[in-house]
Amino acid sequence: MSLKRKMILSLVVGIVLLTISIAWPKSNYLSGYKPREPQGSVTTSTPVSPTPASKPHWVAAKGEVAFPPQGIPILYYHSIANLPGNELGVPPAQFDAQMQYLHTQGYTTISLDQLYAALTKGAKVPRKPILLTFDDGYPDNYSVALSILERYGYTATFFVVTSYMQPRQGMLTWPELSAMSDYGMTIGSHTVHHLNLSKLPLAQQSAELSQSKAEIQRHLGFATPYFCYPYGGYDPATLQMLRQTGYKLAVTTDSGVVEPGDNVLRLKRIYVNGLKNLAAFKAKLAQLTQQAQRLQEMYQQGYAAFFQHKYADAIGLENAVLAQDSGSAQAYNVKGIAQCYAGQFSAGMANIDKALAINPDYGYARFNKALAYELYGQYANALNWYNRDLQIENYVWSYYGIAAIYGRKADVANTVKYLKLAINLDPEVKQVARTEADFAPVHNSSLFQALLQ
Ligand SMILES: [Zn+2]
Repeated sequence: MSLKRKMILSLVVGIVLLTISIAWPKSNYLSGYKPREPQGSVTTSTPVSPTPASKPHWVAAKGEVAFPPQGIPILYYHSIANLPGNELGVPPAQFDAQMQYLHTQGYTTISLDQLYAALTKGAKVPRKPILLTFDDGYPDNYSVALSILERYGYTATFFVVTSYMQPRQGMLTWPELSAMSDYGMTIGSHTVHHLNLSKLPLAQQSAELSQSKAEIQRHLGFATPYFCYPYGGYDPATLQMLRQTGYKLAVTTDSGVVEPGDNVLRLKRIYVNGLKNLAAFKAKLAQLTQQAQRLQEMYQQGYAAFFQHKYADAIGLENAVLAQDSGSAQAYNVKGIAQCYAGQFSAGMANIDKALAINPDYGYARFNKALAYELYGQYANALNWYNRDLQIENYVWSYYGIAAIYGRKADVANTVKYLKLAINLDPEVKQVARTEADFAPVHNSSLFQALLQ
């Protein structure tokens, strides 16, 4: 666990200890709700609130703190050449000026590997990260762009169309691509024939994905996990096939920056139009990053409101984010868990599911789904979703959640087993566990006491 997470966690634990639960009137809509059970002080005739004191610290510990608030821009280029009247050609001098601008602005290029780790594992990135990508495999990517990139210490990713890679085609050649790879550049697939996948039969889509990957492997000696959709075209089956073919990250032509919670197979990019001047380049980058930052700050305010048990505020703020970005898995996710804590289980779950529809591998949404089930006493579902979260991330509070459920069931062996896994990831969990009501049924067992020593 990072230091920041630790700091947040200890802060949160402090606040949690100060929080009290509130009794609800007998007839309210929560009457069927099963609150946390171990104290035996709650009866079905006096339902309590979803005891917000009990768990929001888990959520707060999951703050995706490593991600830059302005998002991560992925620029995309084609040719770096003077192509009068053709927006796919960015003149070399202009490309140089753009790189110089990024450099003076403090942007650091990161690789798709780093981006993937940041999105899926919360890995840290530089303060102002950016990615540069080149589509189609123009020969000037090697003869012109490479030396300009080198001047600024920048790296880039080149998405190639494998059927174009013949000397007579006048595009990049395999030896050039191999040299670029040796140089530290990333190589990805842009299919075999550059067709719009959403218009192809499934078998042909599949061939475009697998054959391009195999060709790159044959010529360069490694299998690329990176993909770029020709014309930005794909359908749900494409995403499925990408996973099956061993791709783990794909970029689209949708405009925007990458934000936490985004689907790694549907990443937005920023198009660089060769007919626009440097001022337009600067303005577009500034506009998209500033908008992302504004929405990220609003999302974080909603998140903080949830954490302070101001559920209506949290829901309102996340709604405001969604009004401007209907693809924000983050906002759906926090809105959903806030609704669950506010007693709106069905509506809340529906919103967490919307987050998961945008990004099925969003660990925080899988975790929140488990948390919501746990809050409402649906322990089998909760265990299932904690485990589904653990399939994609080694998250301390998912282990803890499983331990807490077994604790309530007075299952000492499983409580100790999962709590130990949590403690191994973060020793401070011990401190939380000592005062956790869920562990009351196992608290006096010697195994549990030994674990907390
Ligand atoms: Zn293309």
